[in-house]
Amino acid sequence: MYTKFQQHLTTELNDIREAGLYKNERIIASPQSSAIKLQDGTPVINFCANNYLGLADNKELIQAAKQAMDERGYGMSSVRFICGTGDIHKRLEQAIAHFFGTEDAILYAACFDANGGVFEPLLTEQDAIISDSLNHASIIDGVRLCKAVRYRYQNADMADLEEQLKKAQAQRFRLIATDGVFSMDGNVCPLDKIYELAQKYDAMVMVDESHSAGVVGHTGHGVTEQFNLRGKIEIITGTLGKAFGGAVGGFTTGKKEIIDMLRQRSRPYLFSNSIPPMIAAAGLKTIELLERDNSLQDRLHENTKYFVGRMTEAGFDIKPTQSAICAVMLYDAKLSQEVAAKLADEGIYVTGFYYPVVPKGQARIRVQVSAAHTREQLDRCVDAFRKVLNK
Ligand SMILES: *Cc1c(COP(=O)(O)O)cnc(C)c1O
Repeated sequence: MYTKFQQHLTTELNDIREAGLYKNERIIASPQSSAIKLQDGTPVINFCANNYLGLADNKELIQAAKQAMDERGYGMSSVRFICGTGDIHKRLEQAIAHFFGTEDAILYAACFDANGGVFEPLLTEQDAIISDSLNHASIIDGVRLCKAVRYRYQNADMADLEEQLKKAQAQRFRLIATDGVFSMDGNVCPLDKIYELAQKYDAMVMVDESHSAGVVGHTGHGVTEQFNLRGKIEIITGTLGKAFGGAVGGFTTGKKEIIDMLRQRSRPYLFSNSIPPMIAAAGLKTIELLERDNSLQDRLHENTKYFVGRMTEAGFDIKPTQSAICAVMLYDAKLSQEVAAKLADEGIYVTGFYYPVVPKGQARIRVQVSAAHTREQLDRCVDAFRKVLNK
């Protein structure tokens, strides 16, 4: 049997290679940081991590993780509801709810799991999910697992959302699902307008804050802060794997009955292991750091403004961004790969994205700014772009 299947896979893999879509892992041999070392020892400045607040190698987080490991051991060897819940897990859930101004929170092994387990326990075939066309793969998969009737609206298109909401009046309950920040363009979802439409058409709202928590909003508390909607959104999901330390772990936070129902019926929570104590402790330390003062969020905002300003000044075509994601538009797929390779030669680590990750003819280099970048590193990035593209 395997011989035939092997041939089949080999053919498919070759097709992927020939289409230029084969993904190679890029190996780093240093801690994750604004300056990293590649496997061959080459030092590069990193502009493609989700390390928005520079916490991936933060000393206080490392210390908190070490201490928890010494005091509470390595793993939980259990799902949450049997014997995988520690006091640290509960404290982290409370800290997350406090951070977002919500009523309760529930931890998952990843935000992929949070999104995979949020729709199915809450909605049935009598209900409707109205989903943004550019939502993250994990939201799409979560929606697929749920029997609710699906509606899709064009990215951030409020006229289209309204149309879909009108159709969805046929169902019992309605839930609008959106990313907080869309990761390819860096645009923030128009949550104020989404909320207005939700009120008008009797719907609830779910926002995934993975790229926005710690980043968006005056003090980095996410899109609900940006639009002055703290406590108003029924469901928020997010990750500990991006701005919040960059390790692993996800959560859903929101109305307390919703979280309570997820604890009863959400499959990735019921049937998957609890996050280890060290991750919970470092997560708790992350939230503590961000609530202590606003220096990291401020630095991220300053860095982003500086970088986008300099790139615009230099004449580059930048997608309007309200996050720490800066899409430098090149349109041509091949060009995006060449430019990314040449930037790597200049010591700048970025990724070129092209179809099918972004629409055809919309190839780009995505630059992710971090609070950990120094001015000099940001300047070096701009200078490298200028050199490579002759500007
Ligand atoms: C990264 C991301 C996820 C997945 O988060 P993990 O914790 O890494 O599983 C989910 N949703 C969005 C919008 C993301 O950007």
